Amino acid sequence: MTLELSHLSRRFTDFPALDDVSLSIAPGEFLALLGPSGSGKTTLLRILAGLDYPDAGSVHLDGHNFLAAQARERKIGLVFQHYALFRHLTVAENVAFGLRVRKRKLRPSKAAITERVDQLLKRVQLDGYGHRYPTQLSGGQRQRVALARALAVEPDLLLLDEPFGALDAQVRLTLRRWLRELHEDLKLTTIFVTHDQEEALELADRIAVMNRGRIEQVGTPEAIYQQPATPFVCEFIGKVNKLPVTCTDGKLAAGEWVLDGDPWHGRHAHATAYVRPEHLALGVPANQPAWIAHLRHIYLAGSVVHLELYVPAIDQTLEADIAGEDVARLGLQTGVDLRVAPRSAVVFAIDKPGDDATVQDRWMWQAQSTIFA
Ligand code: ATP
Repeated sequence: MTLELSHLSRRFTDFPALDDVSLSIAPGEFLALLGPSGSGKTTLLRILAGLDYPDAGSVHLDGHNFLAAQARERKIGLVFQHYALFRHLTVAENVAFGLRVRKRKLRPSKAAITERVDQLLKRVQLDGYGHRYPTQLSGGQRQRVALARALAVEPDLLLLDEPFGALDAQVRLTLRRWLRELHEDLKLTTIFVTHDQEEALELADRIAVMNRGRIEQVGTPEAIYQQPATPFVCEFIGKVNKLPVTCTDGKLAAGEWVLDGDPWHGRHAHATAYVRPEHLALGVPANQPAWIAHLRHIYLAGSVVHLELYVPAIDQTLEADIAGEDVARLGLQTGVDLRVAPRSAVVFAIDKPGDDATVQDRWMWQAQSTIFA
């Protein structure tokens, strides 16, 4: 079942919570809606769930008008961050709820419901917990019951709104791996709302990055990370160094770092370069353009070492990530000076310097010569 969202808009008073959103979701796909608070993720999910209605636009499921169907006809499984289970019902009764409230002719027999509940509790690894009440479960177990309840009605579409948002970091990590495996088993079309980029990068087949009611980019986690389409995506996903670049006489440069060539042939006078911490090369040979950077801090974080470098020529602090063994190899210690240059960067041509600039073009820049970390 292909879900086709086309030019969806939703305004609250004078504020566009969704602004011309179009998106196609393939059968069995796991799509993450990722964005900061207030970017419109929940509004989009609520429209799909039938809890809200857009001011403009359409949603089609295999060519049928999805928005014309009542919420209960849409075959949707919903799990919210605080989708409270019914406290007075046991786990088994909670999972059975969606089946029990069906009209008599659609309702499975008692025995069939019991069998289905048992299967689902096994599936969410809560076999033997059916007689407990929600208050006798941990937060992670409750969310797994909520998921079993959503799956009980055999939905065509699973909508999850920050389902692990209220759980602590370790439980979140375990549950997202578990959810990924569950999805690989069930192949149920799933839309997962999160503001946690790591969660989206790890779980999703594709990520739609949202900002101010619009989709900035849709793509695989790799494409979103390696080829960000906009400065917002660069800054929202992962850590990144941001550098003002000037374009003069056919040359783009930020201090001593000179990029080879100008893809825009002098059409743009300003640009911003984004460089991931792992794409900064250290100890660059003297025949290559590089900054002299002062190593201010070294932080060890497991197998990766974070460096804080200050470059006086451009008055900027840069972050670099390197492998632990490179610290000794490069003789790194706080206070040393190093030659530093990007190995690759995403460069956006802009109409003027500053935060309110408009992006004109993008250049995926790669150093032509091999320089070593
Ligand atoms: P969060 O991650 O914080 O849940 P979100 O990306 O899910 O954020 P939405 O809940 O979709 O964002 O909200 C988008 C915008 O629409 C916000 O600015 C919000 O204040 C506004 N909004 C949402 N629902 C309503 C409403 N019922 N009335 C007025 N404004 C609303």
